[in-house]
Amino acid sequence: MGTNVRIDGHTKLAFLLGHPVAHSLSPVIHQAAFAATGINAAYLPWAVAPDRLAAAVQGLRAMENLLGANVTVPHKEAIVPLLDGLTPEGEALGAVNTLLPRDDKLVGDNTDGAGFLAALREDPGCETAGLIAVVLGAGGAARAVAMSLARAGARQIVLVNRSLDRGRLLAELVAVRYPACEVTVQALHSAWRVTELPEIRLLVNTTSVGLHSSDPPLFDYASLPAQIMVCDLIYNPLETALLRAARSRGCRVANGMGMLVHQGALAFERWMGKPAPVHAMRDAVGI
Ligand code: NDP
Repeated sequence: MGTNVRIDGHTKLAFLLGHPVAHSLSPVIHQAAFAATGINAAYLPWAVAPDRLAAAVQGLRAMENLLGANVTVPHKEAIVPLLDGLTPEGEALGAVNTLLPRDDKLVGDNTDGAGFLAALREDPGCETAGLIAVVLGAGGAARAVAMSLARAGARQIVLVNRSLDRGRLLAELVAVRYPACEVTVQALHSAWRVTELPEIRLLVNTTSVGLHSSDPPLFDYASLPAQIMVCDLIYNPLETALLRAARSRGCRVANGMGMLVHQGALAFERWMGKPAPVHAMRDAVGI
């Protein structure tokens, strides 16, 4: 995991803007990528309070040796109006996790959805064309997951969210952009059951429930059919109560570590214009 950083007058800088950032694995993942490819760059966590975000973006603009930046909670949406433009991906999601310096401009991109798909595709059993999937949640991560599944040819997405209104808003967003994908909305509660949806092949938890061992079950885990794949975007803990229950019921499972590595790998590719050393990035976080 340890990578020696050689800092000199030519070192390029990359940052993670968030609040908090101390828990983040992105510095470890990116520093490993720079080391593996011999790039003279340093990736630094930058804790930015919400009321200082505009000042931080101005600081980035002044940095001639800026390689790029990532953006995390709570700034992914708030940073949009501070930028000079968005890539089609950033535009579609209305949220940014990657900043690209282009000439004198800062362009906002989003690699979360593509990172999720890249991680999903590592499972040979998960074909996205014609897929029927359940997405739990309707926040920023759900937006990235639902949009990317629809773009990848999913036939139907069932959005299950605590707040029905927020679920409906996301459903509309997906339906407008991907009319071929049927999107339905259900209310998430502790007695909700998966088995009412016989053709489902994938269930993705994008809510923050499961981060704490004291969190109550999101739904009736005993309703998980063995033939589905269950993904949890949470990566700390590596195995949430949902994944534990799914595994014990015979489901294939994946935690959020694969998505984390792949969204980082895609950011690296955008900054460097060359393939990312995905193996080194995975090794850095022990997967
Ligand atoms: P948001 O705050 O935008 O959305 C949170 C979602 O969780 C909402 O749908 C909310 O429902 C739901 N929720 C929160 N508390 C509860 C509860 N007690 N019961 C039921 N639902 C609840 O967060 P994000 O979408 O940005 O992030 C969500 C998770 O995804 C986080 O754990 C984050 O770490 C993870 N993530 C992982 C990534 C990776 O690379 N692996 C990348 C991005 C995110 P409601 O609308 O009703 O409030």
